Amino acid sequence: MEHYKVVILGAGISGICAGINLKAQGLGPFRIFEKADEVGGTWRDNRYPGVECDVPSHLYSFSFELKPDWSRDYAGGAEIFGYLKDVTQKYGLYDDITFGTAIEYAEFKDGRWLLRSNKGEMFSADMLISALGFLHVPNIPALPGLEDFNGPCFHTSQWDHSVSFEGKRVAIIGTGATSVQCAPRLADVAERVLVFQRTPVWVGPKVNRAIADEEIEELSQNPAALRKRRWDLWNGWETNGLALVTEGTLANRTAERKALESLRRQVSDPLLREKLIPSYNMFCKRPTLSNEYYSMFTRDNVDLITSGVSQIGPDRIIASDDEEHPVDIIVMATGFKSFDIVQEIDLRGEDGVTLKDVWSPHITTYKTIMAPRMPNFFFVLGPNSGGLTSAFQMIEAASSYISLLIKYVDDHGYKSVTAKAEKIQEFKEEILESFSKTTQNKGCTSWWTDETGYPHANWPDSSVRYRSMLHTLVPEDFQFAR
Ligand code: NAP
Repeated sequence: MEHYKVVILGAGISGICAGINLKAQGLGPFRIFEKADEVGGTWRDNRYPGVECDVPSHLYSFSFELKPDWSRDYAGGAEIFGYLKDVTQKYGLYDDITFGTAIEYAEFKDGRWLLRSNKGEMFSADMLISALGFLHVPNIPALPGLEDFNGPCFHTSQWDHSVSFEGKRVAIIGTGATSVQCAPRLADVAERVLVFQRTPVWVGPKVNRAIADEEIEELSQNPAALRKRRWDLWNGWETNGLALVTEGTLANRTAERKALESLRRQVSDPLLREKLIPSYNMFCKRPTLSNEYYSMFTRDNVDLITSGVSQIGPDRIIASDDEEHPVDIIVMATGFKSFDIVQEIDLRGEDGVTLKDVWSPHITTYKTIMAPRMPNFFFVLGPNSGGLTSAFQMIEAASSYISLLIKYVDDHGYKSVTAKAEKIQEFKEEILESFSKTTQNKGCTSWWTDETGYPHANWPDSSVRYRSMLHTLVPEDFQFAR
């Protein structure tokens, strides 16, 4: 059985970053297991028309691997995917990745992790890092009659590129960030687009400049200017970000006002406008940015359907008001089951306790990076580390802290490390206190919370606070064993 010092699950942004950190610390041998056949995680999977990032690219990238030639302020998905492949290549990580292999079972036994893959192979590792992310298990609602539908039907993260939308009637179910980007592109080609909206989404204006050649040249020639570009963006996003999620602040009210002005500019019909206005605070759930979404509904070939889906037939959707809508293709823009890691991997820690057990009734962690009673097991971009800013900022901080901790265990001749239960409790109380001051999770539902409304996904503060929390190792927070 192959033994590794560290095994990383997943080769998305988090897995790539964790691998780079382990290499930098000389911690090995390590192996990254990736279920798909390429790196890139979310940017490999999400290739729907119109996919791009809502965080500016000069911030949505590694701080240690700045890219001077981003083509737009908010790059498209393909460009980000290309960047991630380039970074993997540059840091020599491809040789450390086993593709097409998912670890399905992991058990901590006799001071090490025993792992079983989807192919039945067994491995062992001293340390296990989950870089699985939290938005990749598609949420496909069990709509009545869905299995009877005759036409193509797929989730946005499993786009069927062989399907042509030209001249077709397309239903798109859901109005989250994905739908906001994808629906206008479908409306460009399809005969008819029916957008099934359960809850209206906030859509702020988005200016996505193409970056001029001279600017790219300047950023390429001047590393200080490139670093300053990132710093300015971070500074702007961080300062604003926290105020945005605080009810009643000028930033919060201004953002809502700008979104409503954008809606008014794009949609003159008051009845249609009314249907598109959310009844909850703009930062209760993840808002979106687009200059095309609202105006799309004024096109002749686009309809907004606000009655729920009652039944799906072989060639139609019957809405809850009994109206029948003939359709050829159904696109599920219905989001993801966040943190469904317990469905993907049967993970057993101390005394055989499962991750599912220790996360009942709620997901709790030590500072987002360790679960209770799971020795030598870590998360990069774990629960409560979804940021108000670029995910890269959070990923870098967690992954460098984890490699420091692994090195500490090594240097002291320990065999295992577990986060102390009281430190997990302290952290839980701290973040719940911070959440109580924000707009998040008040008056709406979304993947930011579990089904009981517990905020398991986001970090409630700035990434500056996150990075300072994970800046210095605190050995007293852990139990070590030889
Ligand atoms: P999402 O934000 O979770 O939206 C899912 C949509 O599907 C919601 O409108 C939801 O309605 C609807 N829905 C779910 N189940 C339904 C059902 N049974 N019947 C009818 N409607 C249903 O998912 P997403 O748009 O894929 O975005 C997920 C996250 O990915 C985003 O929040 C963002 O963090 C990330 N993302 C980022 C970008 C970007 O950077 N530009 C782009 C895409 C995605 P309700 O609101 O009523 O639940």
